[in-house]
Amino acid sequence: MLVTLREHPADADIISHQLLVRGGFIKRVTSGIYAYMPLMWRVLQKITHIIQEELNAKGCLETLLPQLHPAELWKQTGRWQGYTKGEGIMFNLKDRQGRELGLGPTHEEVITRIAGESIKSYKQLPVNIYQIQTKFRDEIRPRFGLMRSREFIMKDAYSFHSSEADLQSTYIEMNDAYEQIFTRCGIDTVKVDADSGAIGGAASQEFMVTADAGEDLILISSDGKYSANQEKADSIAKEGKELKEGSPEIIETKGQNTIELLCRDKFFEPDQVVKVILILAILEDGSKQPILASIRGDQELNEVKLLNCISKQVKQNVISIKPISKEDLKDVPFGSIGPDLEDSFLNEVSKWSQKFIRLTDRTAADLKLFICGSNKPDFHRIFFNWSMIGGPHQIVDIRKAQPGDLCIHDQEQTLIEKRGIEVGHIFQLGKKYSLALGASFTNEHGSQEPFWMGCYGIGVSRLAQAAVEQSHDESGIIWPINISPFQVIIVIANVEEETQRILGEKIYKDLQDKGLEVLIDDRKERAGVKFKDADLIGIPWRIVVGRDSSSGKVELIKRSNRSTTLLSCESATKMLLAEIFN
Ligand code: ATP
Ligand code: MG
Repeated sequence: MLVTLREHPADADIISHQLLVRGGFIKRVTSGIYAYMPLMWRVLQKITHIIQEELNAKGCLETLLPQLHPAELWKQTGRWQGYTKGEGIMFNLKDRQGRELGLGPTHEEVITRIAGESIKSYKQLPVNIYQIQTKFRDEIRPRFGLMRSREFIMKDAYSFHSSEADLQSTYIEMNDAYEQIFTRCGIDTVKVDADSGAIGGAASQEFMVTADAGEDLILISSDGKYSANQEKADSIAKEGKELKEGSPEIIETKGQNTIELLCRDKFFEPDQVVKVILILAILEDGSKQPILASIRGDQELNEVKLLNCISKQVKQNVISIKPISKEDLKDVPFGSIGPDLEDSFLNEVSKWSQKFIRLTDRTAADLKLFICGSNKPDFHRIFFNWSMIGGPHQIVDIRKAQPGDLCIHDQEQTLIEKRGIEVGHIFQLGKKYSLALGASFTNEHGSQEPFWMGCYGIGVSRLAQAAVEQSHDESGIIWPINISPFQVIIVIANVEEETQRILGEKIYKDLQDKGLEVLIDDRKERAGVKFKDADLIGIPWRIVVGRDSSSGKVELIKRSNRSTTLLSCESATKMLLAEIFN
C-alpha cells in the first residue's frame, strides 16, 4: 500500500497537496473527496490524540453525533434554506418516506437540541462536548487536496453556560487548549479576529497557519498588536486628496462609466468620488431587499461586513447578496448613479421591496466635496456636498481594510498583509441557537433561560496538510515529530547483504521494544530509490544500515537539516531515545 510517485500530480496546485499525493498519503476518489492511506491515517490519529488529551484535560467530554440531520431541525434555526439552496453547501437527500435529511456540515442544531433535552438546571452547567468526525460540505470550489475538501475531518466542540461570564471563561480556556494543541502538533499559528456574524456572537478568533498558499487574507499591524481576517478587519483608510472648492455643476461624462475612466479623462482622483453600488439581498423569509451602498471611489466593499450590516437592519438572516445589474433594472443609469437614486426605479421589479436600504460607508460620508453620479445617463455632479443630495444616509463600516491602512489602536502603525490557512476557530455564539431551538435550563431564580453557547472547531485533516505546507523542502515532507506517522525509518541499503539485513532487523526490534514507532524499508530496491522515498515521506529520523554494518556501525540522519552521524547501533539507539523522549 506504500506507493510513492515520481511525477507531480497534474491536479495539485500547491506543494503540500503534491507531496501528500506523491508520498502516497492520500488518494483522490473524486472531486474534493480523498482516501486517507495508512501513513496519513497515522498522522490523523496522532493529531486526534493530541486534541483529545488537551480537551479532556480541560474537562471536555468526547461524544459522537449523527451525520444525518432531519431538515426540520435546520428549519427551526432558519438555516435549511441557506444551506441547501443556491450556493448552500449542505448535501441533502430524501429518505424512502420522502423525508428530507441533510449530511452534517456542522452540528449546532443537533447538539443544542440534545442539550436542551438533557440539561435541566443551572447546577448541571457548564458542559463542553466535542466530537472528531467526518463533515460533509459541498464546497463551491473544492481544491488544494485536504485544504478545502468536500468530506473532511473536523473536531467540533460546543459549550453550554448559565451566564455570559461563564462562556467567556471557557472561551479563554479553549483558547489556551488550542495554543497547546497547535504547539504540540508542531505548527506555527497566528491568532486573528474573525467575523462573528450579525446575530449573536460576541467574539470569534481564528487560528491561521501563515503560508503563501493560504486562502484567507490576514492583516497584521506593524507592531504585531492587532491581527484580523480581512473579512473582519477594521482600519482607518488613508486620507484622500480633497477636492478644491468650486461651484457645483453637472458635467457630461459620456463613455466614462467607470471610476477609472472618469478620473483619467477628467483628472480627478478616485478618492474624490462617491461610488454607488446596488446590491440585492435575499433574506431568510424569501423576500428581496435592494441595497444602495455608497463608498469612497478608491475603496472596496467588504461583503461580509455588508451582509452583517443588512442582517441587522432587516432583523433576520441574509441568505446571500448579489450585485444588481442592467438585466434586473433596465432604466437605472448604471455608471452614473448617485446616492440619492430614487426608489421609484424599483417599480420595474414588483417582487422586490420598493425602498432601498441606503448605507454610506464612513469614507464616503467624510467627504466634504465630491463627485458623484447624477442619476441621468452620462452626467455626473461635481463640487457637491451631502446636504445637497439629502445625505449621508446611515453611516456604517462596510469597507475592506487594506494593507497600508492605518491601525485603529495606533495611527503610527500600518497594516501588513499575509496569507493564512484557517486551522481552527473559536466562537462565542451567545444565544442564537438556544433561542431558536427553545433550549433552556432553570436558572438560580427558578425561571427558564436559554443557554449561553460557544463553539470551537479544528480542521483535523486540513491541519495535517497545513503542517506539510509549513514544513517541507525540495526533497519532500519534514513531519513535525509529534504528528509524524513514524518517528524513525530504518533503510537497509542492500537487503541482499545478510549483515545489513540482520543488523537492520535487530535495530528495528530494539527500537520498537524501547517504545519508538519505527518503519523499516527492506524493499529490494536500489539504495538511492529508498533514500529518495524516505526524504519524500518525511519521517524525522533515519537510520541507514549500509556498508559499515560489518563493523556494527550505522548512519543516523536528521531529516530536517540532514545532519549525519556515523555511530554504533547502540549509540544510535541511545541518541534517538534522548532526542525523541527528551
Ligand atoms: P472556511 O472559511 O475555510 O470555509 P469555515 O469558517 O466555514 O471555514 P468552520 O465552520 O469554522 O469553517 O469549521 C471549522 C474548521 O474546519 C475550520 O477552521 C477549518 O480548519 C476546517 N474546515 C472548514 N471547511 C473545510 C473544508 N472544506 N475542508 C477541510 N477543512 C475545512
Ligand atoms: Mg471559520
